[in-house]
Amino acid sequence: CGIFAYIGDKEAAALLITALKRLEYRGYDSAGIGIHGVPLKVRKKVGKVANLEEDVSKASDTVKGTLGIAHTRWATHGKPSDINAHPHATSQSSIAVVHNGVIENHRALKEQLSSKGYQFLSQTDTELLAHLVQDLKMQMDGASWLEVVATALRLCEGAYGVAFIFQDDPDLIIGARKGSPLILGVGHGENMLASDASAIVEHTKDVVYLREGEIVEVRRSGFKVHDIQKVVSKLGKNRISPRP
Ligand code: GLU
Repeated sequence: CGIFAYIGDKEAAALLITALKRLEYRGYDSAGIGIHGVPLKVRKKVGKVANLEEDVSKASDTVKGTLGIAHTRWATHGKPSDINAHPHATSQSSIAVVHNGVIENHRALKEQLSSKGYQFLSQTDTELLAHLVQDLKMQMDGASWLEVVATALRLCEGAYGVAFIFQDDPDLIIGARKGSPLILGVGHGENMLASDASAIVEHTKDVVYLREGEIVEVRRSGFKVHDIQKVVSKLGKNRISPRP
């Protein structure tokens, strides 16, 4: 339902919670945040953002960090619960994701991943995104997170606004959209992503509306927008090109 992500030099947790409050008017049933660290730190709660805020304030030592993602959920697959709330992470907490929308072919993808041994904790269509990205990362030797996430999204049917963070990269958020909005806010030494401009306006007036089918690498120093399809087809060409 609502997404916000921040990368910069400020403590992210408080900033993410404030942003979630700006997104509250859209309606939601649960909320959560994921902060970069080793491993990634995820806190999520069914109910109001105030519940999450209380939980985070109790755990404030464990959610320090200047890079994070946040979500307010409007359940489509799986009842409102702490476990079904976003972010969803891999078992080693190496990848975490927030997602707006619906992955229509979630059942088939989930089955494939389960048969490879991936354990699903939630009933959502979203959790598979984390496992799928992890699985492809192992298969696509040497590929960047941008290439891996683009490849994963090409396998997904349906609508999404997504934001991913990665344990092994303390300076990267990957966002993408298809059928759901995602806006980039450009600041000085800090950047953010949101599903709604209302969460960005207090940080910067400089915004970039991502277009349908675009994916963005966001770092503290800047950002780079790509077309999902082009990232994937370039990979394909390189793979089949004959060696010199
Ligand atoms: N389909 C996802 C879920 O049920 C995302 C819902 C949303 O857009 O908040 O968890």
